[in-house]
Amino acid sequence: MATPTVVLVPVWGAGHLMSLLDSGKRLLARAGRALSLTVLVISAPTEHLAAEVAAHIRREEASGLDVRFVHLPAVEPPTDWVGIEEFVSRIVQVNAPHVRAVISSLPSPVAGVVLDFFCTTLLDVSRDLAVPTYVYFTSNAAMLAFMLRLPALHEEVPVEFEEMEGAVDVPGLPPLPPSSVPTPVTDKKNPNYTWFVYHGRRFAETDGIIVNTAAELEQSALAAIANGRCTRGARAPKVYPIGPVISFAPPPEQPHECVRWLDAQSPASVVLLCFGSGGFFAAPQAREIAHGLERSGHRFLWVLRGPPAPGGGRHPTDANLAELLPDGFLDRTKDRGLVWPTWAPQKEILAHAAVGGFVTHGGWNSSLESLWHGVPMAPWPLYAEQHTNAFTLVAVMGVAVAMKVDRKRDNFVEAVELERAVKELMGGGEEGRKAREKAMEMKAACRNAVEEGGSSYAALQSLSEALYKGAVVVGTN
Ligand code: UDP
Repeated sequence: MATPTVVLVPVWGAGHLMSLLDSGKRLLARAGRALSLTVLVISAPTEHLAAEVAAHIRREEASGLDVRFVHLPAVEPPTDWVGIEEFVSRIVQVNAPHVRAVISSLPSPVAGVVLDFFCTTLLDVSRDLAVPTYVYFTSNAAMLAFMLRLPALHEEVPVEFEEMEGAVDVPGLPPLPPSSVPTPVTDKKNPNYTWFVYHGRRFAETDGIIVNTAAELEQSALAAIANGRCTRGARAPKVYPIGPVISFAPPPEQPHECVRWLDAQSPASVVLLCFGSGGFFAAPQAREIAHGLERSGHRFLWVLRGPPAPGGGRHPTDANLAELLPDGFLDRTKDRGLVWPTWAPQKEILAHAAVGGFVTHGGWNSSLESLWHGVPMAPWPLYAEQHTNAFTLVAVMGVAVAMKVDRKRDNFVEAVELERAVKELMGGGEEGRKAREKAMEMKAACRNAVEEGGSSYAALQSLSEALYKGAVVVGTN
């Protein structure tokens, strides 16, 4: 039999595409020559995303691995969309005939289709073709438990979450405050909500869910999913916690300017602030941050992006520091702080011994990168599932200090609150000390999990065996 191929269907965006590709590569490494990878590349809706995707693909193609990229034809993106999660889900849906055509004509048996979170409409295609189907969940087990529970919550909670009494019951998690539900489900009239309920329902129909976490990090949520408590006692798909999956690029020839600046700082003395691929601040918030940092007295490396350009979609722009920062701030803090106004090499920065704490938007990739290096966090959620992640990092995992974020004011944080959180994170407070200790424990757990004999290593092995055994010959191949 020709080598069975695993078909990956990622969506664009730093946190999605790279994470799924990296998982696929790990799978290949476990499977030896028993499996190959086919990546379906859905045509990106903006030039910015298209360029990003092309750069990743060029790098992967040059790596010599058994990975084949198949570019799907461009489709007409929906124009009447309201929310970004709706937009992504719908553009994937429009691609279904192309996905079907490619899978049906693959020259090798298909071991399985692995869908990104937003691609569950494609289950109809893979089911029709009788191909085993998995979801790759780029977030954590807590969020997965929430998603699997969401279809039932939809029936049980007739009002908006923020209007309900008490906490949201998600098996495997401590009572979830309604203020910590993911942003796409905060407005039930928004199509994003409907799509999340839809995806949650369809996750339960898959043959397995691959999740970017490790058993040691989220035992309770994983157990609740496995014993069917999140799916009302119905069978839950097998979950494969294979993380942390972190895509490390080869070190650059010349150290980045941020890294050179860190070289001159003492160990664990710098707080890093960085807010993912989509985080940005307008002047009123940027000024609060500046005042908070100045008053904290701590050293800082602040990756600051500015609001999107008119007509530039949701992509942050390089920050215009003169417009965003208070007068004289850069001068007053030049000996202890660096404000970096564009994309920064976050993974290299977190790996640096000078970084002692991380004020993060709490995207799951960023959170895992922080844990990988044992850096405690202060989460400042902005969008997507980050409010739920913040709850997980603080209340479940204990690796972060809580920060008061005003969700009703566009997630505003006052200068005094940032100052308090940074002092707690970097200084001698009890909460900060516990978070630091716990982050170091998680660092060891993360590294052990992916080593030979570790829990994630074993999960990857069992996934690779399930895929190999499930391989089917499709259509004309
Ligand atoms: N990132 C980076 N530099 C930046 C901002 C983000 O390298 O200036 C990387 C970060 O290391 C992470 C990814 O972009 O790997 C962001 O993923 P995450 O899931 O944390 O957040 P998202 O961007 O999806 O909201």
